[in-house]
Amino acid sequence: MRRIFAWLFAAGMALSLAGCASGAGGTSASAGAQTTQLFAMDTVMNLSAYGSGAKTALKNSEAEITRLEDLLSRTKSTSEVSAINRNPGRAVKVSAETAAVIQKALHYSAVTNGAFDITIAPVVSAWGFTTSKYQIPSAAELAGLMKKVDYTKVSVSGNTVTTGPGQSIDLGGIAKGYASDRIASLYKKAGVTSGMISLGGNVWVRGKKPDGSNWRVAIQDPHDADKYVGILKLSDAFAITSGGYQRYFEKNGKRYHHIMDPSTAAPAESGLISVTIVSSDNGTMCDALSTAVFVMGEKKGLALWRNSGLDFDMILVTSGGKVLITKGISSRFEKETGSAYEYEVVR
Ligand code: AMP
Ligand code: MG
Repeated sequence: MRRIFAWLFAAGMALSLAGCASGAGGTSASAGAQTTQLFAMDTVMNLSAYGSGAKTALKNSEAEITRLEDLLSRTKSTSEVSAINRNPGRAVKVSAETAAVIQKALHYSAVTNGAFDITIAPVVSAWGFTTSKYQIPSAAELAGLMKKVDYTKVSVSGNTVTTGPGQSIDLGGIAKGYASDRIASLYKKAGVTSGMISLGGNVWVRGKKPDGSNWRVAIQDPHDADKYVGILKLSDAFAITSGGYQRYFEKNGKRYHHIMDPSTAAPAESGLISVTIVSSDNGTMCDALSTAVFVMGEKKGLALWRNSGLDFDMILVTSGGKVLITKGISSRFEKETGSAYEYEVVR
């Protein structure tokens, strides 16, 4: 319900609750929009599109999500990623597309100095996030796991992917962003000029709302699911958020979330509690970088924004109650009125 609320809010209330809520698994029309809600890639996904081509765009996007999940899922035994994970240390032939996604993941690992690392898979499993049987691994276990995490041992050559001995991969930090890029191209191909998708916190907006105003994408308050730290007013843009509040378990009063620091094999404690990356044209990059910057923390994250040469903006929420907005997006960011957060534009 919260997610549906967030989605409605993000859509600027353009969709009626009835129209959206009834869309589970199917397509429905509301207020001139075609909408679909589905559960895929372990998350709730909402898609909407207006105008001619909307129905085609949604139908093709749903099929695309299923197709990508069948290739990239770690938990589906028939996926290409599962084939790679069943053969650690060996060359595995996959589709050109899976190879390309892994290649992109390795690129963002290099750019982020290993903060983003798809060989994090055994760590994610050891903490129970793949099975929901949550546990805290022992210090000895963590030390053993750390040795398995090293993206430089993965190589892609043509359609062949080879991992290092004992390694496995997890594309959970990048697959939804890649899916959003694919959906963006399907929307454009179908001629959709207005629409919005949210793949569990991975938002892409197409054009403007039918009334000509910008889409309003809410950034959730990490401390309160019913509140927001602010709103982004966007058109033709990706806004992808990683937050420790999105998936976690609690033990002895402490919260353990799903974004792992490859250097500790434990949930990242960087001082950032939410990271949103915004770009006009690259959902895959936004997804990889949101995860990476969450691990890197404010200082290294801002250095990446300044020095990497990659074109993106960020909204960072710190555990100390600050909201940092990089200058390229500041004119499109609307603070939440009455919020206790301290807002700062970073230049
Ligand atoms: P996101 O929500 O995009 O930040 O992705 C989080 C998901 O990515 C987790 O559920 C894991 O599947 C995976 N993951 C966790 N830590 C990392 C990491 N340091 N690098 C790459 N993927 C990660
Ligand atoms: Mg990500």
